[in-house]
Amino acid sequence: MNLGKVNMTRPRAGRAAGVVVGTAVLCAAVACGARTTADKSLKVFIVVDSEGPSGIADYWAHDPRDPFYPEKRQLLMGDVNAAVEGCLAAGATEVVVSDDTKFGVNTIPELIHPEAKLITGRGFGSPVPMLQGVDSSFAGVILVGTHAKEGTPDGVLAHTFTGASGKHRRYWYNGQEIGEIAIYASAAGHLGLPIIMVAGCEATCREARELLGNDLVTVAVKKGFNPGRALLLAPKKTRVMIAAGAKEAVTHARRMKPYRVKLPITVRVQFPNKEFADEYESNHRRKDPKWPARRIDDRTLEGTMTSPVDIIM
Ligand SMILES: [Zn+2]
Repeated sequence: MNLGKVNMTRPRAGRAAGVVVGTAVLCAAVACGARTTADKSLKVFIVVDSEGPSGIADYWAHDPRDPFYPEKRQLLMGDVNAAVEGCLAAGATEVVVSDDTKFGVNTIPELIHPEAKLITGRGFGSPVPMLQGVDSSFAGVILVGTHAKEGTPDGVLAHTFTGASGKHRRYWYNGQEIGEIAIYASAAGHLGLPIIMVAGCEATCREARELLGNDLVTVAVKKGFNPGRALLLAPKKTRVMIAAGAKEAVTHARRMKPYRVKLPITVRVQFPNKEFADEYESNHRRKDPKWPARRIDDRTLEGTMTSPVDIIM
């Protein structure tokens, strides 16, 4: 990955073999339950997080008293609107932006691209809370402002769900450590939708490609040196890169396959200490006494999950 370059695979060659190519495209559309050629809608869902946008290297969204809070919200909006522009340039007929930052209230409605719709606030009650508002009529999901998983040495603000709290959760699916990208991807995959683009720091883009394959469009907007320090590209430049990436991703959305986890799956979550694990477990048990996880040591819980909802744990 070169910082400053959008990672795009070239459109597949093979135009000469018209019949074969045409059949392959049709099969792909049928296999993912997606639109037919008669349906001209092209809907894209963009999820935005607060740690991965251009120009950001601290946990600003957790503290509105931060004097730079207004500026950082604007930086986030720059990345979001660039992604919307790219989707529209590729022919998207509907673009929905979902604010998945802390409490879901860090986007600025006044500044959202006029052709986009915005979902904000906390999400409760959805079978897939992280992707509330999305359904199988969408062509794919774009992750903007994403960050690498907890413990990634060169990840900017790398964490898995618990960034500024110090509770530092780590997750494993069937023994493989995963981060929020895999969690989004499995939630989208449950609906038959692929992740089609990821924008964030270099380490985030690497994690996304390792998980979802090299056909994924990734846009690296910064590079981490250690948890508190980063090399930032100019937002004026990254917005151009994000728009180009989104255009490419939507144009070739069918290249990407949904990331489906096979059920049942063993999910493990680990905390830095017993106290955090106790708190987490009792919160879950209060909501659902039959929650299918058990303690395997003082600070680690593990469960065999049979429902796509529970794999988020
Ligand atoms: Zn996050």
